[in-house]
Amino acid sequence: MAIATINPFTGETEQTFEAHTEEEVERRIARAQAAFEVLRETSFAQRAEWMHRAADLLEEDVEEAARLITLEMGRPIKGARAEVLKAAKGLRFYADNAEQFLAPEPLADPAAVGASAAGTRYAPIGIVLAVMPWNYPIWQVLRFAGPALMAGNTGLLKHASNVPQAALYLDTLFERAGFPEGSFHSLLIPASRVEGVLRDPRVKAATLTGSEPAGRSLASISGSEVKHVVLELGGSDPFIVMPSADIERAATVAVTARNQNNGQSCIAGKRFIVHADVYDEFTELFARKTAALKLGDPFEESTDIGPLATEGGRDELAGQVEDAVAKGARVLAGGKAPEGAGWFYEPTVLADITPEMRLHLEEAFGPVATVYRAESREEALRIANGTTFGLSSAVWTQDADEQEWFIDRLDAGAVFVNGMTASYPELPFGGVKDSGVGRELAAVGIREFCNLKTVWRG
Ligand code: NAP
Repeated sequence: MAIATINPFTGETEQTFEAHTEEEVERRIARAQAAFEVLRETSFAQRAEWMHRAADLLEEDVEEAARLITLEMGRPIKGARAEVLKAAKGLRFYADNAEQFLAPEPLADPAAVGASAAGTRYAPIGIVLAVMPWNYPIWQVLRFAGPALMAGNTGLLKHASNVPQAALYLDTLFERAGFPEGSFHSLLIPASRVEGVLRDPRVKAATLTGSEPAGRSLASISGSEVKHVVLELGGSDPFIVMPSADIERAATVAVTARNQNNGQSCIAGKRFIVHADVYDEFTELFARKTAALKLGDPFEESTDIGPLATEGGRDELAGQVEDAVAKGARVLAGGKAPEGAGWFYEPTVLADITPEMRLHLEEAFGPVATVYRAESREEALRIANGTTFGLSSAVWTQDADEQEWFIDRLDAGAVFVNGMTASYPELPFGGVKDSGVGRELAAVGIREFCNLKTVWRG
């Protein structure tokens, strides 16, 4: 894929960028290594000061950074601003908590191991390569970079090829904030050159957020290099509605859960599994509220749904819907790409999904919801767990026993009860099954890229 800003609202190429030469990539790796040698010697207090400054810069730059998001991937401007501010909050969270998360842990009874003192401490590991997607071009990157730099590591970013201006904005952010030169930089390279960077001995680990094929490729290279990897891959999250739920509220939240960020969120509710007792009521409300969403220019403040980020993504989604409809799915809302410029797709609700349909097993990366009827909680669970994905899940029920029953049995990295899945710096984030390995955010997220060092003193 060419490295270019292509406006999804018009389909016009705004700007193209030359990939970095091999010499430039080498220079950036060398600078990241030199920065690591400096950063590892700095105190948490010093890093925290720089990290807060980076958050200040983001807040000062909110309009410009949000404009880049909306321009390059079509996210409605209100959401784009919220993304930038959330990223700033994430940086502050790690500025304030990294030292405590990485505090040495002494063994309570060192005599048990024949020591006068023993325990563990967290040490930084060096350069971490981050391969990132376009769907949250600022937040997704900074939720990696915040903990990485606070731990004393340095970062190299290979951003998605369709968000180069976001990549270039992030390229200078940490240096502007005072971090040593080389602490965090972008590599403008195509996916085909990731392997060379990852095999460089100075690069100690990698994280990738993106599709399953990309994740598998990175994991196999990391495996052959014996390098640690964190993968945040796709999802097809269930959103279960049981009879005791507040149906009106569930339907309203379901619309947001499915259509946030134009439906291009890994943790979007994608499969809506509704108990037969409330199926008609829920689906009617869900379809009506979905159809009321306003499509349009993502720079308009009142727009709910902008264009999809890429033409290929829109065509893929249209193909999935066509396949389902041809095999008997019922369209309750939307169902097609509107005429005219821009890579729009109507917010869509499909019922009567069967296992032969692509949408039953594949992730729908756009504003398309599938609805399933379940006769019992057992059937709801079977449908929910019946995919290769396991990122997150949501269950709506007022019944405390039923809540526990689902929490224990949903095969997912998270369960949200009477709400929609969202990411918070305070809570771990990540999936099971084909949705990934490892966790981001919270204490566990910063520890992923540390050397957990055992210390024993005689
Ligand atoms: P993608 O094609 O996998 O791209 C993601 C990143 O990986 C881009 O930087 C891309 O570079 C790079 N890449 C692609 N193939 C690669 C390979 N073989 N080796 C190394 N790097 C490679 O993903 P996408 O389709 O743009 O993004 C959507 C996917 O991301 C969805 O499946 C979504 O669910 C998932 N996602 C997951 C999370 C999560 O936290 N779990 C969050 C957001 C998105 P190029 O752009 O140059 O190809």
